[in-house]
Amino acid sequence: MTRHTSWQIGGPARYYAEIHSVAHARALAAWAHEVGVELIWVGGGTNLLVRDAGFPGLIARYRARTWQIDDLGDAAILRVDAGVSLAGIARRMAAMGWGGMEWAEGVPGTIGGAVFGNAGCYGGDMAGLLQSVRIMVGTEEEDWPVERMAYSYRSSALKENVAHTSGTPPLILVADLRLRRDDPVALVAAMTHIATERKAKTPWGSSCGSVFKNPPGQSSGQMIERAGLKGMRVGNAEVSQRHANYIVNLGGATSDDVLSLIALVQETVRRQFGVDLELEVRVI
Ligand SMILES: Cc1cc2nc3c(=O)[nH]c(=O)nc-3n(C[C@H](O)[C@H](O)[C@H](O)COP(=O)(O)OP(=O)(O)OC[C@H]3O[C@@H](n4cnc5c(N)ncnc54)[C@H](O)[C@@H]3O)c2cc1C
Repeated sequence: MTRHTSWQIGGPARYYAEIHSVAHARALAAWAHEVGVELIWVGGGTNLLVRDAGFPGLIARYRARTWQIDDLGDAAILRVDAGVSLAGIARRMAAMGWGGMEWAEGVPGTIGGAVFGNAGCYGGDMAGLLQSVRIMVGTEEEDWPVERMAYSYRSSALKENVAHTSGTPPLILVADLRLRRDDPVALVAAMTHIATERKAKTPWGSSCGSVFKNPPGQSSGQMIERAGLKGMRVGNAEVSQRHANYIVNLGGATSDDVLSLIALVQETVRRQFGVDLELEVRVI
Protein backbone atom coordinates (compact mmCIF):
# COMPACT_ATOMS: atom_id res chain seq x y z
CA MET A 1 0.00 0.00 0.00
CA THR A 2 3.03 2.31 -0.12
CA ARG A 3 1.90 3.12 -3.67
CA HIS A 4 -1.66 3.98 -2.68
CA THR A 5 -1.23 6.14 0.42
CA SER A 6 0.10 9.69 0.71
CA TRP A 7 2.33 8.57 3.61
CA GLN A 8 3.85 5.97 1.27
CA ILE A 9 3.77 3.43 4.07
CA GLY A 10 2.09 0.07 4.50
CA GLY A 11 2.36 -3.61 3.71
CA PRO A 12 0.43 -5.27 0.89
CA ALA A 13 -3.31 -5.70 0.64
CA ARG A 14 -4.22 -9.26 -0.28
CA TYR A 15 -6.49 -7.82 -2.98
CA TYR A 16 -6.56 -4.28 -4.37
CA ALA A 17 -9.06 -2.91 -6.88
CA GLU A 18 -9.86 0.41 -8.51
CA ILE A 19 -13.45 0.79 -9.59
CA HIS A 20 -15.24 3.47 -11.56
CA SER A 21 -18.95 2.74 -11.23
CA VAL A 22 -21.68 1.75 -8.79
CA ALA A 23 -22.31 -1.44 -10.78
CA HIS A 24 -18.69 -2.45 -10.39
CA ALA A 25 -18.75 -1.58 -6.65
CA ARG A 26 -21.82 -3.74 -6.17
CA ALA A 27 -20.24 -6.69 -8.03
CA LEU A 28 -17.03 -6.36 -6.04
CA ALA A 29 -18.89 -6.21 -2.72
CA ALA A 30 -20.91 -9.29 -3.69
CA TRP A 31 -17.69 -11.15 -4.56
CA ALA A 32 -16.03 -10.17 -1.25
CA HIS A 33 -19.11 -11.34 0.64
CA GLU A 34 -19.24 -14.62 -1.30
CA VAL A 35 -15.60 -15.54 -0.66
CA GLY A 36 -15.65 -14.16 2.90
CA VAL A 37 -13.02 -11.47 2.39
CA GLU A 38 -13.07 -8.28 4.47
CA LEU A 39 -13.52 -5.14 2.36
CA ILE A 40 -12.43 -1.53 2.94
CA TRP A 41 -13.42 1.31 0.60
CA VAL A 42 -10.86 4.07 0.18
CA GLY A 43 -10.53 7.31 -1.79
CA GLY A 44 -7.19 9.06 -2.25
CA GLY A 45 -5.43 7.26 0.63
CA THR A 46 -4.44 10.60 2.19
CA ASN A 47 -5.76 9.84 5.67
CA LEU A 48 -4.70 6.21 6.12
CA LEU A 49 -1.94 4.37 7.93
CA VAL A 50 -1.68 0.77 6.74
CA ARG A 51 0.26 -1.52 9.07
CA ASP A 52 3.48 -3.16 7.83
CA ALA A 53 1.84 -6.60 7.91
CA GLY A 54 -0.62 -5.32 5.31
CA PHE A 55 -4.32 -6.09 5.11
CA PRO A 56 -5.55 -9.67 4.58
CA GLY A 57 -8.64 -8.56 2.65
CA LEU A 58 -9.71 -6.33 -0.24
CA ILE A 59 -8.94 -2.62 -0.42
CA ALA A 60 -11.05 -0.97 -3.10
CA ARG A 61 -10.52 2.56 -4.35
CA TYR A 62 -13.70 4.23 -5.58
CA ARG A 63 -12.90 6.41 -8.60
CA ALA A 64 -16.25 7.43 -10.16
CA ARG A 65 -15.66 11.02 -11.23
CA THR A 66 -18.66 12.71 -12.82
CA TRP A 67 -20.34 15.86 -11.56
CA GLN A 68 -23.13 18.22 -12.56
CA ILE A 69 -24.46 21.57 -11.44
CA ASP A 70 -28.11 22.27 -10.78
CA ASP A 71 -28.28 26.07 -11.24
CA LEU A 72 -30.95 27.57 -8.95
CA GLY A 73 -30.12 31.24 -9.65
CA ASP A 74 -28.34 32.62 -6.58
CA ALA A 75 -27.50 29.14 -5.40
CA ALA A 76 -26.67 25.78 -6.91
CA ILE A 77 -26.50 22.13 -6.00
CA LEU A 78 -23.32 20.41 -7.08
CA ARG A 79 -23.97 16.68 -7.50
CA VAL A 80 -20.55 15.10 -7.40
CA ASP A 81 -19.24 11.52 -7.42
CA ALA A 82 -17.23 10.39 -4.41
CA GLY A 83 -14.12 9.74 -6.52
CA VAL A 84 -13.74 13.38 -7.57
CA SER A 85 -10.79 15.34 -6.11
CA LEU A 86 -12.05 17.71 -3.40
CA ALA A 87 -9.56 20.52 -4.07
CA GLY A 88 -9.86 20.08 -7.84
CA ILE A 89 -13.64 20.51 -7.91
CA ALA A 90 -13.42 23.39 -5.41
CA ARG A 91 -11.11 25.27 -7.80
CA ARG A 92 -13.36 24.50 -10.74
CA MET A 93 -16.45 25.76 -8.91
CA ALA A 94 -14.67 28.98 -7.89
CA ALA A 95 -13.67 29.66 -11.50
CA MET A 96 -17.32 29.16 -12.52
CA GLY A 97 -18.51 31.63 -9.85
CA TRP A 98 -19.89 29.11 -7.35
CA GLY A 99 -18.69 29.77 -3.81
CA GLY A 100 -18.62 27.79 -0.58
CA MET A 101 -15.72 25.43 -1.20
CA GLU A 102 -12.80 27.89 -1.03
CA TRP A 103 -11.58 26.41 2.26
CA ALA A 104 -10.89 23.11 0.44
CA GLU A 105 -7.98 24.59 -1.54
CA GLY A 106 -5.02 22.27 -1.05
CA VAL A 107 -6.85 19.55 0.94
CA PRO A 108 -5.76 16.29 -0.71
CA GLY A 109 -8.09 13.36 -1.29
CA THR A 110 -11.55 12.77 -2.66
CA ILE A 111 -15.09 13.91 -2.01
CA GLY A 112 -15.77 10.44 -0.50
CA GLY A 113 -12.98 10.71 2.06
CA ALA A 114 -13.99 14.28 2.89
CA VAL A 115 -17.66 13.34 3.40
CA PHE A 116 -16.62 10.35 5.52
CA GLY A 117 -14.33 12.28 7.87
CA ASN A 118 -15.91 15.77 7.72
CA ALA A 119 -12.75 17.27 6.25
CA GLY A 120 -12.31 20.95 6.92
CA CYS A 121 -9.98 23.89 7.48
CA TYR A 122 -9.89 27.70 7.26
CA GLY A 123 -13.34 28.00 8.83
CA GLY A 124 -15.15 25.58 6.51
CA ASP A 125 -15.96 21.89 6.51
CA MET A 126 -18.07 19.29 4.71
CA ALA A 127 -20.80 19.52 7.35
CA GLY A 128 -21.39 23.11 6.22
CA LEU A 129 -21.60 22.16 2.53
CA LEU A 130 -23.38 18.84 2.34
CA GLN A 131 -27.09 18.73 1.67
CA SER A 132 -27.45 14.97 1.24
CA VAL A 133 -25.42 11.96 0.31
CA ARG A 134 -26.14 8.78 -1.65
CA ILE A 135 -24.71 5.72 0.04
CA MET A 136 -24.59 2.07 -0.91
CA VAL A 137 -25.56 0.09 2.18
CA GLY A 138 -25.32 -3.63 1.51
CA THR A 139 -26.60 -3.80 -2.07
CA GLU A 140 -29.18 -0.99 -1.67
CA GLU A 141 -28.70 2.70 -2.44
CA GLU A 142 -29.96 5.12 0.22
CA ASP A 143 -30.23 8.92 0.24
CA TRP A 144 -29.22 10.36 3.59
CA PRO A 145 -29.95 13.98 4.51
CA VAL A 146 -26.95 15.68 6.11
CA GLU A 147 -28.52 15.34 9.59
CA ARG A 148 -28.18 11.57 9.36
CA MET A 149 -24.41 11.92 9.02
CA ALA A 150 -24.39 13.26 12.63
CA TYR A 151 -21.37 15.40 11.85
CA SER A 152 -18.97 16.62 14.50
CA TYR A 153 -15.40 17.88 14.33
CA ARG A 154 -13.55 15.57 11.85
CA SER A 155 -16.12 12.83 12.38
CA SER A 156 -19.41 11.45 11.14
CA ALA A 157 -21.84 8.63 11.86
CA LEU A 158 -19.97 6.53 9.25
CA LYS A 159 -16.57 7.20 10.82
CA GLU A 160 -17.83 6.54 14.36
CA ASN A 161 -19.37 3.22 13.31
CA VAL A 162 -16.43 1.93 11.29
CA ALA A 163 -15.10 -0.22 14.13
CA HIS A 164 -18.51 -1.74 14.86
CA THR A 165 -19.64 -2.51 11.31
CA SER A 166 -19.43 -6.09 10.14
CA GLY A 167 -19.96 -7.19 6.55
CA THR A 168 -19.74 -4.77 3.62
CA PRO A 169 -19.07 -1.24 4.88
CA PRO A 170 -21.25 1.58 3.48
CA LEU A 171 -19.87 3.15 0.29
CA ILE A 172 -20.33 6.88 -0.28
CA LEU A 173 -21.36 7.27 -3.93
CA VAL A 174 -22.53 10.82 -4.59
CA ALA A 175 -22.68 14.03 -2.55
CA ASP A 176 -25.07 16.93 -3.08
CA LEU A 177 -23.29 20.12 -2.02
CA ARG A 178 -24.95 23.54 -1.58
CA LEU A 179 -23.07 26.39 -3.25
CA ARG A 180 -23.80 30.13 -3.62
CA ARG A 181 -23.33 32.40 -6.62
CA ASP A 182 -20.38 34.70 -6.14
CA ASP A 183 -17.78 36.70 -8.02
CA PRO A 184 -15.32 34.25 -9.65
CA VAL A 185 -12.44 36.73 -9.44
CA ALA A 186 -12.95 37.15 -5.67
CA LEU A 187 -13.35 33.39 -5.17
CA VAL A 188 -10.17 32.57 -7.07
CA ALA A 189 -8.30 35.30 -5.15
CA ALA A 190 -9.52 33.85 -1.82
CA MET A 191 -8.26 30.41 -2.84
CA THR A 192 -4.92 31.77 -3.99
CA HIS A 193 -4.55 33.41 -0.57
CA ILE A 194 -5.33 30.11 1.20
CA ALA A 195 -2.90 28.26 -1.10
CA THR A 196 -0.11 30.65 -0.10
CA GLU A 197 -0.88 30.22 3.61
CA ARG A 198 -1.02 26.43 3.33
CA LYS A 199 2.24 26.31 1.42
CA ALA A 200 3.98 28.26 4.18
CA LYS A 201 2.69 25.86 6.87
CA THR A 202 2.75 22.45 5.17
CA PRO A 203 5.87 20.36 5.69
CA TRP A 204 7.72 18.84 2.76
CA GLY A 205 7.60 15.10 2.38
CA SER A 206 5.07 12.31 2.60
CA SER A 207 2.46 12.61 5.34
CA CYS A 208 -1.22 12.18 6.12
CA GLY A 209 -1.77 15.78 7.18
CA SER A 210 -2.67 16.23 10.85
CA VAL A 211 -2.14 13.00 12.77
CA PHE A 212 -4.18 13.99 15.85
CA LYS A 213 -7.51 15.74 16.26
CA ASN A 214 -7.44 18.99 18.21
CA PRO A 215 -8.97 18.51 21.67
CA PRO A 216 -11.80 21.03 22.31
CA GLY A 217 -10.33 24.54 22.62
CA GLN A 218 -6.75 23.29 22.27
CA SER A 219 -4.22 22.79 19.52
CA SER A 220 -2.52 19.39 19.33
CA GLY A 221 0.31 20.91 17.29
CA GLN A 222 1.02 23.54 19.96
CA MET A 223 1.05 20.97 22.77
CA ILE A 224 3.39 18.70 20.82
CA GLU A 225 5.67 21.64 20.09
CA ARG A 226 5.64 22.84 23.73
CA ALA A 227 6.49 19.30 24.83
CA GLY A 228 9.70 19.70 22.81
CA LEU A 229 8.84 16.94 20.36
CA LYS A 230 9.44 18.75 17.06
CA GLY A 231 12.12 16.85 15.17
CA MET A 232 11.70 13.73 17.36
CA ARG A 233 12.39 10.61 15.28
CA VAL A 234 11.70 6.91 15.38
CA GLY A 235 13.40 5.16 12.47
CA ASN A 236 12.60 7.25 9.42
CA ALA A 237 9.47 8.87 10.81
CA GLU A 238 9.83 12.39 12.21
CA VAL A 239 7.57 14.85 14.04
CA SER A 240 7.76 17.65 11.51
CA GLN A 241 9.99 20.61 12.33
CA ARG A 242 7.55 22.83 10.48
CA HIS A 243 4.17 21.66 11.84
CA ALA A 244 4.22 19.54 15.00
CA ASN A 245 0.92 17.77 14.24
CA TYR A 246 2.46 16.22 11.11
CA ILE A 247 4.60 13.09 11.09
CA VAL A 248 6.74 12.96 7.98
CA ASN A 249 8.10 9.89 6.26
CA LEU A 250 11.74 10.82 5.64
CA GLY A 251 12.01 7.89 3.20
CA GLY A 252 11.40 4.23 3.89
CA ALA A 253 9.63 4.77 7.24
CA THR A 254 7.62 1.79 8.40
CA SER A 255 4.19 1.73 9.95
CA ASP A 256 5.84 0.52 13.16
CA ASP A 257 8.09 3.63 13.14
CA VAL A 258 5.02 5.86 12.86
CA LEU A 259 2.99 3.95 15.47
CA SER A 260 5.91 4.07 17.95
CA LEU A 261 6.28 7.81 17.37
CA ILE A 262 2.52 8.28 17.82
CA ALA A 263 2.67 6.38 21.13
CA LEU A 264 5.64 8.49 22.26
CA VAL A 265 3.84 11.74 21.42
CA GLN A 266 0.63 10.61 23.14
CA GLU A 267 2.50 9.51 26.28
CA THR A 268 4.53 12.74 26.50
CA VAL A 269 1.51 15.00 25.97
CA ARG A 270 -0.52 13.01 28.53
CA ARG A 271 2.27 13.38 31.11
CA GLN A 272 2.85 17.09 30.50
CA PHE A 273 -0.69 18.35 29.82
CA GLY A 274 -3.00 15.61 31.10
CA VAL A 275 -4.57 15.43 27.61
CA ASP A 276 -5.28 12.27 25.60
CA LEU A 277 -4.58 12.95 21.91
CA GLU A 278 -7.03 11.13 19.65
CA LEU A 279 -5.99 9.96 16.18
CA GLU A 280 -7.51 11.70 13.15
CA VAL A 281 -5.94 9.23 10.74
CA ARG A 282 -7.42 5.74 10.26
CA VAL A 283 -5.15 2.78 10.99
CA ILE A 284 -5.74 -0.29 8.82
C1 LIG B 1 -0.62 17.28 3.19
C2 LIG B 1 -1.99 16.96 3.74
C3 LIG B 1 -2.79 17.99 4.22
C4 LIG B 1 -4.06 17.72 4.75
N1 LIG B 1 -4.84 18.77 5.19
C5 LIG B 1 -6.08 18.52 5.67
C6 LIG B 1 -6.93 19.60 6.11
O1 LIG B 1 -6.57 20.77 6.06
N2 LIG B 1 -8.17 19.29 6.59
C7 LIG B 1 -8.61 17.99 6.65
O2 LIG B 1 -9.74 17.75 7.10
N3 LIG B 1 -7.83 16.96 6.23
C8 LIG B 1 -6.59 17.19 5.74
N4 LIG B 1 -5.80 16.14 5.32
C9 LIG B 1 -6.28 14.76 5.46
C10 LIG B 1 -7.03 14.24 4.21
O3 LIG B 1 -6.73 15.03 3.10
C11 LIG B 1 -8.54 14.23 4.43
O4 LIG B 1 -8.86 13.45 5.54
C12 LIG B 1 -9.28 13.69 3.19
O5 LIG B 1 -10.63 14.05 3.29
C13 LIG B 1 -9.14 12.17 3.02
O6 LIG B 1 -9.71 11.84 1.74
P1 LIG B 1 -9.25 10.53 0.95
O7 LIG B 1 -10.08 10.43 -0.26
O8 LIG B 1 -7.79 10.52 0.75
O9 LIG B 1 -9.67 9.40 2.00
P2 LIG B 1 -8.87 8.05 2.33
O10 LIG B 1 -7.61 8.39 3.06
O11 LIG B 1 -8.78 7.20 1.13
O12 LIG B 1 -9.88 7.39 3.37
C14 LIG B 1 -10.15 8.03 4.61
C15 LIG B 1 -11.36 7.35 5.23
O13 LIG B 1 -12.51 7.60 4.40
C16 LIG B 1 -13.11 6.38 4.00
N5 LIG B 1 -13.58 6.57 2.62
C17 LIG B 1 -12.94 7.18 1.58
N6 LIG B 1 -13.73 7.20 0.49
C18 LIG B 1 -14.89 6.56 0.82
C19 LIG B 1 -16.09 6.25 0.12
N7 LIG B 1 -16.29 6.61 -1.16
N8 LIG B 1 -17.07 5.60 0.79
C20 LIG B 1 -16.90 5.23 2.09
N9 LIG B 1 -15.79 5.49 2.80
C21 LIG B 1 -14.79 6.16 2.18
C22 LIG B 1 -12.02 5.31 4.11
O14 LIG B 1 -12.56 4.04 4.35
C23 LIG B 1 -11.23 5.83 5.31
O15 LIG B 1 -11.80 5.39 6.52
C24 LIG B 1 -4.53 16.39 4.79
C25 LIG B 1 -3.73 15.34 4.28
C26 LIG B 1 -2.47 15.63 3.75
C27 LIG B 1 -1.66 14.50 3.19
